[in-house]
Amino acid sequence: MRDQQGLATNSLKALLSSSALPGNEARILLAHVIETYYQLPRSALLSRDDMELNESAYQAWQQLEQRRMHGEPIAYILGKKGFHAIELMVAPGVLIPRPETELLVDIALDEIGRIKRSCQILDMGTGSGAIALAIASASAHSAIVATDQSSEALAIAKINAQNLHLDNRVQFFQGDWYEALTQHRQFDVIVSNPPYIANVDPHLTQGDLRFEPASALTDYASGLSCLETIISGANSHLLPGALLAVEHGFDQSDAVVCLMKDAGLHDIQVHLDLAGHKRAASARKMA
Ligand code: GLN
Repeated sequence: MRDQQGLATNSLKALLSSSALPGNEARILLAHVIETYYQLPRSALLSRDDMELNESAYQAWQQLEQRRMHGEPIAYILGKKGFHAIELMVAPGVLIPRPETELLVDIALDEIGRIKRSCQILDMGTGSGAIALAIASASAHSAIVATDQSSEALAIAKINAQNLHLDNRVQFFQGDWYEALTQHRQFDVIVSNPPYIANVDPHLTQGDLRFEPASALTDYASGLSCLETIISGANSHLLPGALLAVEHGFDQSDAVVCLMKDAGLHDIQVHLDLAGHKRAASARKMA
């Protein structure tokens, strides 16, 4: 079929201009289609914009477009998400890694660089494995323990570890926070991005969050209960002088700093995300 300008209605250019999706989303999904069906790079959206999709590619495009129109997150539609320097497989059983969470990776990597020997790292509530695997990928001499209470999440995290060839340095355990550890151990760095959204927060019923596992987003309470468990248990699981770093909500910084003080941690530091929000806090066990 041709439109009024004589352009084929299933050409890349016509599909992009007639899509009801925001331009950037339509381009991501159409790039995925031409990569899958024609092994063409994203740049072909411009360089070959008159190319017409064959029937099966066209149907695939329509399905992806429909899924996005129904609100499904792009990362679940594509089945992958870039995070720090790695790409992760994601599916509805795990939280989609957020750019602001890269902050925790950078805090951990700074500390690992400072220690200058092989480090033992603990990532609790690992989900897709994002934090643990990004750390392992960027620091060749660290060994990571990653936990999650969800077997579905751990299955995905383990696939990611294998895909990234990091399964020899990342060990996974199932369970709640420190209870997941099968033996008592102390770490050089503990990191966690726990569920910290309060159960009454309206964001839980909006946008991408509607499709993500609720247990990865909310503690079904004030938002602070998991952070409290993690912070209060840190002293007994950190080596002397070692570092804890947690992500928290944009309005939870003061509460998290208080929890860290109450837990007897020191050198408490507040970290800003790229949007300028107080998004993470770190503290040390006394040396
Ligand atoms: N940062 C996520 C969000 O606001 C929440 C993730 C979490 O609770 N750890 O969508």
